[in-house]
Formats: sequence, structure tokens, C-alpha cells
Amino acid sequence: MPDAATLPESQQILALNAFDARQAGGLPPATAELVQRRQQTFGPTSVLFYQEPMHVVSAEGVWMTTADGRRYLDVYNNVPSVGHCHPRVVEAIARQAATLNTHTRYLYDIIHTYAERLLATYPAGLDKVTFTCTGSESNDLALRIAAAATGRRGIVVTDNAYHGNTLAVTEVSPSSMPGKPLPPHVRVVRAPDVYHAPTDDLGQRFAAELQEAIDSLEESGFGFAAFLADTIFSSDGIYADPVGFLKPAIDAVHRAGGLFIADEVQPGFGRTGDAMWGFLRHGVLPDIVTMGKPMGNGFPMGGVVSRSELLEAFTESVGYFNTFGGNPVAAAAGLAVLDVIRDEQLAENAAAVGRHLRAGLRGLAGNGHPEIGDVRGAGLYVGVEFVRDPLTRQPAPELATRVINGLHRKQILIGAAGRHGNVLKIRPPLVFSKDNADQLVGALGEVLEEVAAPSR
Ligand code: PMP
Repeated sequence: MPDAATLPESQQILALNAFDARQAGGLPPATAELVQRRQQTFGPTSVLFYQEPMHVVSAEGVWMTTADGRRYLDVYNNVPSVGHCHPRVVEAIARQAATLNTHTRYLYDIIHTYAERLLATYPAGLDKVTFTCTGSESNDLALRIAAAATGRRGIVVTDNAYHGNTLAVTEVSPSSMPGKPLPPHVRVVRAPDVYHAPTDDLGQRFAAELQEAIDSLEESGFGFAAFLADTIFSSDGIYADPVGFLKPAIDAVHRAGGLFIADEVQPGFGRTGDAMWGFLRHGVLPDIVTMGKPMGNGFPMGGVVSRSELLEAFTESVGYFNTFGGNPVAAAAGLAVLDVIRDEQLAENAAAVGRHLRAGLRGLAGNGHPEIGDVRGAGLYVGVEFVRDPLTRQPAPELATRVINGLHRKQILIGAAGRHGNVLKIRPPLVFSKDNADQLVGALGEVLEEVAAPSR
């Protein structure tokens, strides 16, 4: 692990919360042995959370259990979105794995039932789905569809966006290459941040900045193909409000003959509480939507939803086949996830518990915690921004790191987001209850009493 002080700020945050092998001396013997086996096999790509890495052995609902029998409240993991090891998803996967598992070049009923059920959650016009295995593959495919359909290559993203890990997708993920120049076919717009840069009309400002980026791409010779955005702007620092602020920007995209790719890997599947998809909060119709993480509750699944004519343009020039994408077990997992979201009313739960949680966090801020500069988000995607001073709003990443570690000691798992890593990122499984929210707010208050004083 490199010395945190020599890294760019956004990577320092990760390094500060990461396990440092040079300080492995005090680890319990069983943990030390696992760490050593991991280092021998994974090498430098291995990043572990926390100075004492967690050896987890089981999980259920919103709880994760470690080898020493401790139970942790999971406020971090959005992949097991309908709850860790949800019995209906587990049973569906096991049953299908014991019956048939092959690729999509044969006919089988369950994948078509799943495709129909999934597409029924989309507005009219978005009526074709292609299955992949990860969010990165989904965005990679979306970029290829956009290039084929428009005949242009230029992409606009927000300035701390993350869209995945393939070569093409890393090029449109500024958060993966801090301090490095952007590839020539990529332009960025500022994240829609009204906390640091207040405005009465975020919609118009964001659209005007996007228009500048579009103009610049058109002058460059690459042309403008698409605007790719995570509709909850998670890696940028979580920006959900005001409702509808994306509308003028998407109108500008379409006037310029470009496409809007909505990355729903983070907000999708009911998390924002308003609806199944984050873009619906903005009253806009994307041309392409990409999905991943929560889609199979941990079974590796992704997908791209678009329209026939866009897919035709793409498949005319090149075919697409994904060996594992949409296999029968994936379809069974995906179908069970849709059933659970509907039957347990998880979007409604996300809305109600999210509101309760934000009220509790704002209460904490107003009750002697000026280091909480802002509380924002939608449903169960909530950001808590820490600042050194509420007037200057200078980011306090060191406080976020202390809070993450303080909450870990209190058996609560949480992470941070944003360009400076000073925004606590709250995105638990959607079965999170008001009691769970109260536990989090109570523990955060206690941790802030212990660790906030130096940065006040
Ligand atoms: N898009 C967004 C917004 C993401 O947050 C991520 C993953 N963090 C991805 C795409 C990539 O997904 P995956 O890691 O499944 O490839």
C-alpha cells in the first residue's frame, strides 16, 4: 500500500480507509493468515477495507456476521439490494442451477418472462433489453451502441463520474484517473452541486455547461455522441435535487442529435424511493439505460435497455454475444429480485425510511454538529457532507475517514463518496428499517462527539 500522503486527494481517502500491510502485526492469527494468502495470490490489486480487515462468514437482511461472531449493520452494500441472502432469491438460484444453466442461444421460457417483466417497469419506447454480467459491460455496450447509432464518438460525463472498468469505460470515468488528462473524445461538466455553488436554477446552469461541452466536441471533429450520467451522481457526491433538474440538459442533448445514456447501476431497482429508475425523478426519457449491481442481488447480472432502431444500427456493423449474460440462473435471480421489490414494497420502504433517516441526520446537524454541512439524497441513497466550517464549506475528508472507522468500531459499515471523499455514502439494503436508521443516527452522533472536535 503506497504512503497515503503521496497520493492524489481522492486516492488518499481510499488509502486512509484501507488496510495497510505494514501494520499487520497486531492482527488476530486467523485474520493475519488470510491476509497473507490474499497478498500472495492477488498482489497489488488487492484492496481491503479497514486497518483490521473484516473476515465475514455470513449475512442476512441488513446484517453481516464476522468469524468472531460479531454482527454488523450494513449501511454500505447496495448489491444485496433486497437484503443479504434473501431466501426467495437464494431458492430461485438454487432451483434453476439444479435444472438447467446454459447460454442465450437456445430458447427457454424463464429468460423471456424475465425480459418481459423487466421491460414492463420502463416507460413506453424503451422496449428492448440486452443482458450482460456487470455494470461495466453494460456501459461499454451502451457506448458502442451510441457510436454506431450517431456515427460520432464524443462523450460528456460529470467531472468525478465512475462508470466502470473496461478500457472504453475507464476513459469516461474521470474519478478513475485523478489528475490525468482526459482522452480527446471526452468532455466533463461540473457535478450538479448546489451546496458549493448555489444557484436558483440548477437546470438551466447544468444545461448551459453541457451545451458548452457539446459545442466543444462538435468543433473537435469527434462530434457529440452521448451524455452518460449516473442519475443519482453517486461518485460525484450524491445529487438528487431539485427534482427534474436534468430535464433542460436532456433537451439540449436531443436538440444536438445526441443520445442520453442513463447509468442506473447505483440508483436503479427502487433505491431512490420515487420509482424503479432514477431517471424518472427527472421526468426525462433516456435513449439507453444501463443496469448492474442490484439486478441479481449478488448474482452477477447487468443489462442495457434501448430501442430497436439503436440496436439495429449497432448490430448491422458488429454482432454482440455475451456467454453468461442472461443465462437461466441469472434470469431466475433477476425475476426473484423483481418479485421481492414488488411484494415487500421496497421502493416505498426506501422512500419512507430515507425520509425518516434524512430528518434524523438533519436533526443531528442542528443539534450541535455544524461539521455536518449538508444532508441530501433520495430514498435510501443519502449523502452526509462533512465540512471544516459551515460558512466556508471547506471539505473535511479526514473527518469522514474518522467517522467511517468510528462507526466500524460500533459495528456499522459505511463508506464515502465525492471528489474530496468527505461525503458519507449511505446506501444500505432496501430492507433497512426506521429502527436501523435510528441506530445509525444515534451511533453517528456518538462517533461525532468522539472524533469531530479537532476539525471544528
Ligand atoms: N456505473 C456506476 C455508476 C457504478 O457505480 C459502477 C460500479 N461501482 C459501475 C457502473 C460498474 O459496475 P461493475 O463494477 O459491476 O462493472
